[in-house]
Amino acid sequence: MGTPVNNTADFEARLRSQVDFPSPSRVASEVIALARDPDIEVAKVAQAISRDPAMTAKVLRIANSAFYAQRRPSKNLRQALVIIGLNAALTLALSFSLVSSLRGCRPHGIDYRRYWRRTLLAATACRALGESLHIGHDEDLFLAGLLQDVAILAIARTSSDFYAEISPEATHSEWAAHEKQLLGKDHAAFGAMLLKSWNLPERLWHSVELSHSPESLAAAGDEGRFIGCVAMGSELADAVLATDRPAALDALATRIQNVLGLSDEKFTEVVTRILKLIPEAEDLYETSIIDQNDAEALLAQAREMLTVRSLHALREVHALQETAGLLLSRTEQLEDANRRDGLTGVMNRAWLDRHLEREFTQAVMFQRSLSVAFIDLDHFKKVNDTFGHQMGDKVLRSCAQAMQSSIRGSDIVARYGGEEFVVLLPGTDDEMARQVCERILAAIRELRHEANSATIITTVSIGLATYTPQHRFASATELVDAADHALYAAKLRGRNRVDCFAELEIGVAPAMARESA
Ligand code: GH3
Ligand code: MG
Ligand code: MG
Repeated sequence: MGTPVNNTADFEARLRSQVDFPSPSRVASEVIALARDPDIEVAKVAQAISRDPAMTAKVLRIANSAFYAQRRPSKNLRQALVIIGLNAALTLALSFSLVSSLRGCRPHGIDYRRYWRRTLLAATACRALGESLHIGHDEDLFLAGLLQDVAILAIARTSSDFYAEISPEATHSEWAAHEKQLLGKDHAAFGAMLLKSWNLPERLWHSVELSHSPESLAAAGDEGRFIGCVAMGSELADAVLATDRPAALDALATRIQNVLGLSDEKFTEVVTRILKLIPEAEDLYETSIIDQNDAEALLAQAREMLTVRSLHALREVHALQETAGLLLSRTEQLEDANRRDGLTGVMNRAWLDRHLEREFTQAVMFQRSLSVAFIDLDHFKKVNDTFGHQMGDKVLRSCAQAMQSSIRGSDIVARYGGEEFVVLLPGTDDEMARQVCERILAAIRELRHEANSATIITTVSIGLATYTPQHRFASATELVDAADHALYAAKLRGRNRVDCFAELEIGVAPAMARESA
């Protein structure tokens, strides 16, 4: 290298005194000072940022970008500040300002485009990790990601051929090792020193300082998780840019699991998040990070990795799942028993009441028909009185079965009580429902119950009511009452028949019909 460095302290002094290495602009310095003020006000922040039109435009743009997509669009700087939050806005403003001054100085001796690509990718990854882990401070994470390698620029600027012997394919840790060997410290340490001298908050420079050794700090605690995200974001960028990306991603998924406790599923989620954030970052920082084809390939690789890893994990939990499956089917059996009527096997009243509410709400919401048939056995008391209660039970059972076999899978028979049943016909209008009811009438009429030397023939009466967008009912209860009303009309009109509520003569009150039944 051109300029030999004797010791670390010398080099630090040189880095610090580099007159042409950009320190924060006047506006950025003001922003840093404001961010340290615990009582910051919107007015002051707006005033400071509005002094830099480019910064203002970017803050506005980011408030309306995918980063904050779910929230309301903002038209002016004050609204944008409220949407982003003051601290976050200050951090963003700072990142724009620092990036633009850093880009003003283009050091020789490094692949500058690759540097920015990797840096923006790392910053996006830091943010995506933080979002997935709900760490908060999303903008701080992005800024830390942006600045964690800033010392590489400073070092390259001090001695243009410092990185000359490093191959373009070298990994990030090979760069760090090279720095350590020649300068006594790596760019993480020098970067932290620079950020500290720029008066940036401790969280930022501290995370940069530890970005190469996140394990030294237990990931427990907010601070540890923040630092972990910064370090892993940087490694994620390396994995994405690695020659053997699938292998790099696989190794990284394990590492991120150890450092941050991030599951494989979450890892894929992070990759998806990164890809979602990249277009905005590319726009805002005017750098292309990844092209569309490569983005698709990356996502496919991340998903494939997840499949392979979960396949492995799946084998281990397979036995467990089998046990769980058995338990589940046992629970389902028990639940089913709770829903069915003991005597007839059709649904019971409690279940009907719950289910009816749900069907009614859905009919109203989706503007669908819902028919309710109220069914009552005719002169059933006589069956009991003549042939005994047990025979009565038998008849009840076979009538319920006949109802069940007359309906479709999406319809439901429930025992309402005694010898009364309700059939629910979702999505069925009155015309179709009437046909179903006629089928039930016929099926029951054709049943033959042998008792001693006699043959019992039973009939039922059916009352039908239909909710349609044209014929509305205020509630499920009103709909059932209407079917009940029609049932008593059917009894009144001679039994063994179906009557529809909509066709009843106006003025036949349910109570009247019931009395004369
Ligand atoms: P209608 O045609 O007017 O409906 O006459 P009905 O005799 O069917 O009506 P009523 O309400 O007077 O009598 C119903 C009978 O149903 C009385 C009751 O003993 C009988 N019942 C109710 N639940 C059961 C049951 O679980 N098993 C048996 N065997 N009978 C039942
Ligand atoms: Mg009856
Ligand atoms: Mg009855």
